Amino acid sequence: MRKLSERVGTFTDSVIRRMTRISDAHGAINLSQGFPDFDPPAEMLERLSQVAHEGPHQYSITFGAKNLRDAIASKYNKATGLDTNPDTQIIVTCGSTEAMICAMMTVCNPGDKVIVFSPFYENYGADAILSGADPIYVPLVPPEYDFDPVCLEQGFQEGAKALVLCNPSNPCGKVFTKEELTVIADLAKKYDAYVITDEVYEHMVYAPSVHTIIASLPGMAERTITCNSLSKTFSATGWRLGYMIGPKDVIEAAKKVHDFLTVGAPAPLQEAAVAGLNLGEKYYEDLNRLYTQKRDYFLQGLDEIGLKHNIPQGTYFVLVDISEFLALPQFKGWTDLEFCEWMIKEIGVAAVPGSSFFKEPVYHLIRLHFARQKETIDKALRRLQKLKKILD
Ligand code: GLN
Repeated sequence: MRKLSERVGTFTDSVIRRMTRISDAHGAINLSQGFPDFDPPAEMLERLSQVAHEGPHQYSITFGAKNLRDAIASKYNKATGLDTNPDTQIIVTCGSTEAMICAMMTVCNPGDKVIVFSPFYENYGADAILSGADPIYVPLVPPEYDFDPVCLEQGFQEGAKALVLCNPSNPCGKVFTKEELTVIADLAKKYDAYVITDEVYEHMVYAPSVHTIIASLPGMAERTITCNSLSKTFSATGWRLGYMIGPKDVIEAAKKVHDFLTVGAPAPLQEAAVAGLNLGEKYYEDLNRLYTQKRDYFLQGLDEIGLKHNIPQGTYFVLVDISEFLALPQFKGWTDLEFCEWMIKEIGVAAVPGSSFFKEPVYHLIRLHFARQKETIDKALRRLQKLKKILD
């Protein structure tokens, strides 16, 4: 047989999603792939059951149902103070996953350079390959996951056409301060680069951290493509609803990419999602409170067990340091992936190996998430106690 494309030989499947399959196969508690084990708001489900009988069941407008785009524009304009036009500046996509790859394919020619902070959500590596872009990785340095502005500027000097910004940042939980975003924005303007964002965790931000949408900074709306989704905000990851917002000329071009990639996101789910967006500010405040409680509770549980971890400012992810385990004779020479596979089978909790997020050789971290009901978190913590016994 003729060989397949070279492209498909240059990346693996998603380790995050692979861990879910391994977890399911062994009946473990899945704290690997980040998605909640609770339902979307009742209003969305109610509307979904009406829609099941009333429709729509056929295609929506390719770039998204008008009422959903209007609702997204209203939320976004309130948060940014911008005057985004829902007809010309928004595309509803199949999750932010499609929004990101669509943005990259719209902006990049093969060979163009794109800055990606490391650690990074693994999709960005594959997005770069699929769009032909060459990533320039700029480290976010632990423990604070700061970046060096000089190093970042070097990336722009090398000719980066765009920067990918995940804020709040998966997997390290960093929430970029306004000052840091201003440094990024000034460099993007100085070197005439685009910023492509992934802001799906915008409502999982823990005080005193505050999330700023970079497009709201002076001069940034015209060079930022804001990608977001309803998956995390409305606990509806399976609905596959996301969106991208940007300047009119960029979105006009992106509409073509989106149209030929997917035609559009599921029409009945778009209709039901409007009910979620219409819930208003209180819903987001309650969600934030819920996740703040979950974070504090889970971190306290990890502390009681004696597991070392970072303190996320945002997202629902925690990086746990497994160095102490890897130093023990029984784990000698193990990779973080082997450790995670062992954890699934022997401890009954699934995590993602940290190395799938870092460009640098980092093998001593695993990522857990706490988007779980309290009972599930309790059960997971009880199982993780078994790890402690190994160290004793
Ligand atoms: N963003 C989630 C994570 O990092 C998962 C998203 C996905 O699998 N599409 O786990």
